[in-house]
Amino acid sequence: MLVITPIKCRASALALGILPVVLFLTGCNDTVNVVNGSGQPVGLLVDGQDSGGQLNDRAFVSAASPLNVGQLSSSPQTNEVIGFTNDRPPKYLSAPWTSGSDAFNVDFRPAIGIPVTVWIVKGPFAEQRQHAIEACIRTSAIWHNERMGIIFTPFNIIDATADPQAPLHYAFPNGDVGDVVWKPLRDDIGFVAGQLNIYWLDTVNGGTGSGWSNFGAQIAMGKNSGDELLSHEIGHAFSLTHVDSDSNFNVDNIMHSASNTRQYSTEGQLFRAHLNPSSILNVLYSARLGEVTRSCSYSNTATFLCPAIQKRVWADGGFPPN
Ligand SMILES: [Zn+2]
Repeated sequence: MLVITPIKCRASALALGILPVVLFLTGCNDTVNVVNGSGQPVGLLVDGQDSGGQLNDRAFVSAASPLNVGQLSSSPQTNEVIGFTNDRPPKYLSAPWTSGSDAFNVDFRPAIGIPVTVWIVKGPFAEQRQHAIEACIRTSAIWHNERMGIIFTPFNIIDATADPQAPLHYAFPNGDVGDVVWKPLRDDIGFVAGQLNIYWLDTVNGGTGSGWSNFGAQIAMGKNSGDELLSHEIGHAFSLTHVDSDSNFNVDNIMHSASNTRQYSTEGQLFRAHLNPSSILNVLYSARLGEVTRSCSYSNTATFLCPAIQKRVWADGGFPPN
C-alpha cells in the first residue's frame, strides 16, 4: 500500500516582511530599481561600460533601492544585470545603457516552487520519513540563505517499504553507469513524471552515507546520508558539478563531493543552476519559460556571457567577495 504524506517543509526564517521601496535622486548616475524584492539586501552583477572601459560582472550590494551603479554607457559586448536576493530566483535584466541617466527595474519573480516525490524504499518508514523531512528543511534553509530562490512545494513522501520489489533496490550501484541502473527504480518502485524523484535506500555505491544524482529526475540517497547531502545532489540536477579540485572552494560549498558541512553556493553557481538549459528547472520543470538561458560550463574564467564559477557577490566559506 502506498501512503502519501504531503509535507509543507519550510525553514522558519523564510517568513520575511516586505519593506517599502524608498526612492531618492541620484544625480546623473544610472540606477537599478528593485521590484518585488523580499526586503533583504540585493546584489547585482553588472555588464556595461564606463570611463574606465568595459565592465564584466561588477558587483553591487545594497539594502536600499534603487542601487546606484555609476555612469554607464553602451558596451560593444554585453549590457545586462543579474540580480540576486533571498527567496527570489536570480533575475536577468537586459540593460541598454545610454550616455544619459538610465533607470532600469530588476523585477524579481516569486520563488520557484518545485514539487518533489520521495520514495522511502528501506525502512523503518517513520525513521526515514523523518530523515527525509530533516533533509528537506536543511536544503530549504540553504536555498534561503544562499539566494537560490527555489522552494519545495509539495514535498511528498511515499512509503514503498512494503513493495515486494523494495529489497531488490536496497543497494544502489554507481549511478554513472547509465540509465540501466536508474530505470529499474522507476519501473519497480515508482516514478512521478515531471518531478524530481528521490529514493531513500540503504546503500549508494557501497556507502550508507552516500547519494547519487542522474543529473535529471532521479536521486538515490543512502540510509545514513547527511541532511545537507540533498542540497548537493539537487545541485547536480541543477547542472552543477564538483568543486573539490578548485582552490576557490572548500568543503563548505554545496558542490564539494565529500563533506558534511555543505552550506554555501556562489553567485556563479546560482547563475548556472538557473540559466543552464540542462538544469532540471528548465528541462524537467519548465519553470523559466521565456526567460534567458545560457550554456555556461564550469570555468574559473569569466566571459561576457557567463560569470566565473567562483564569482561571489557576498563572502562565503571564508572566501571574500570577488
Ligand atoms: Zn556529487
